[in-house]
Amino acid sequence: MSIAVVGSIGLDTIQTPAGRVHEVLGGSAAYFSLAARHFMPVSVVAVVGKDFPREARALLAQSDVDLTGLEVQDGKTFRWEGVYSDDMNTRETIRTELNVFERFKPDLPDRTRSLKNVFLANIDPVLQREVLSQLDQPRLVLADTMNYWIKTKKDELLKTLKQVRIVIINEEEARELTGEALTHKAARAILSLGPETVVIKQGEHGAFLQGPELFFTCPAFPIDNVIDPTGAGDSFAGGFVGALARMARVNDHNLRRAVVYGCVLASFTVEGFGVSGLARADRESILARAEAISDMTKFSLSDTARILR
Ligand code: AMP
Repeated sequence: MSIAVVGSIGLDTIQTPAGRVHEVLGGSAAYFSLAARHFMPVSVVAVVGKDFPREARALLAQSDVDLTGLEVQDGKTFRWEGVYSDDMNTRETIRTELNVFERFKPDLPDRTRSLKNVFLANIDPVLQREVLSQLDQPRLVLADTMNYWIKTKKDELLKTLKQVRIVIINEEEARELTGEALTHKAARAILSLGPETVVIKQGEHGAFLQGPELFFTCPAFPIDNVIDPTGAGDSFAGGFVGALARMARVNDHNLRRAVVYGCVLASFTVEGFGVSGLARADRESILARAEAISDMTKFSLSDTARILR
């Protein structure tokens, strides 16, 4: 059992109030894989250029991420640059260079085609569908996206969403996609686009789950020293999808458990630049944070009715 992921692998230049890093390993599939591998092996479908640094590749390979489906093409690797505001709640994209992704036509290795769990991480929605069409019989299809694709390829994105069981999206993007100003209305509007469940990521406020009959909200694990929020959303997805794929059934209880693991994995990412914080997470620290979140969310109203007049 493994999870197939298609998404970006690239080099990020990031500036936050804590400092700046230049061309470090990044991309949605990189963060996703490094988070999901704690639950299940991950096979990446992506492309890099000949300039992709050996150390960046080694970091993924050492973490037991299957790179058989990572093509290397003539040309430059995907690059992205972002600058965060002082409170790190917003960021400005300075540049997005798709480079080798512009011409990428994935051709999945045989053993990836038979995988049952697939995450369509943030990348061109046409590529997301192309990967989906090459899988034999996927059981669990989940997807994420980003403002860039909502702006440039909304119709393609809507076609992809029709084939997705669970969508994971951040709150501004949910509003942008649906035109709804209120996040809860946006979540419900996404359910009418195809997916049976939507997970809305809310940054430092955690995440909530919305299904036709399900609502669950989970706090973020509080981190005092946030260094770099880049990739927190993709790491959330890695924790969520990894945990859900490990559980035999998709039901309300398991969806809630998966959201907790999503919040846990995201919390490691924000503690360091690029993937450095996430790379430090281990079994014990993941479990400890999951238990802490579970304690935070336990609450019984007990005899509260007596408080009311
Ligand atoms: P997040 O902070 O979770 O939204 O993810 C940030 C990551 O997404 C960075 O590592 C970027 O390399 C990657 N990224 C940024 N823009 C795009 C895009 N248009 N398509 C795919 N990946 C992107």
